Amino acid sequence: MFAPHPDKKLYEGKAKQVYATDLPHEIVVHYKDDATAFNGVKKAQIADKGVINNRISAFFMERVAAAGVPTAYLRQLSDRDQLQKRVEIIPVELVVRNVVAGGLAKRLGLAEGMKLSRTLIEHFYKSDALNDPQINEDCAVIMGYASAWELLAMREYSLVVNDVLRDFWNDLGIDLVDFKLEFGRFQGAVILADEITPDGSRLWERATGRHLDKDVFRRDLGDLSDTYRELYHRIFGEHLHA
Ligand code: C5P
Repeated sequence: MFAPHPDKKLYEGKAKQVYATDLPHEIVVHYKDDATAFNGVKKAQIADKGVINNRISAFFMERVAAAGVPTAYLRQLSDRDQLQKRVEIIPVELVVRNVVAGGLAKRLGLAEGMKLSRTLIEHFYKSDALNDPQINEDCAVIMGYASAWELLAMREYSLVVNDVLRDFWNDLGIDLVDFKLEFGRFQGAVILADEITPDGSRLWERATGRHLDKDVFRRDLGDLSDTYRELYHRIFGEHLHA
């Protein structure tokens, strides 16, 4: 069983820890059970969230890679750990939206639930200190956060990821409302980094409108651990720890 060594910790984020390996171009990502919302203002431990997200992200990273999107994901090492390529994170987060919800609804005074006529991609500057302010592509280039060709690649890859995820969830009777992606630089190329999990996605059950994502925690809609276990069962056809 793999056990990350504390001396090798490079970074600790809100939901993950990152460890160095013996290879300079590879890292171990360890998924924790911590959940935070509103930039760390609300915090809780969610039983098994790390195990569930580790497996869900591995599953989707493999799917999007098969669809032609280069990713940092390499392989799962244990139930909470996965090996990834070590990238330089590009400080621009992309939010992909198919349906009005969350920040978009608030910003424009819209009701949640309106289907967008086509997929909307938004950009945010990755900065906890500034609460990830929205920017546009011009701003990202002018400030030196990303180059124009990197932003183009990020946009194109995001649309492919959207197609893959939307089709997958659609088959399970779940609408993919929106999600957030992060990208990194690796050996001169842009690749998809970080994670694809229900922490960074909105998933609404079509028949009932029920939220099957981290909004359950953000909005106090129920038990997030139960919600994630149910998602796990729907995706993999088996119960966690069965
Ligand atoms: O809050 P907002 O509506 O902009 O979020 C859009 C999507 O991006 C949601 O699925 C949310 O989970 C995700 N997100 C995220 N991390 C952030 C901001 C948003 O994963 N810092």
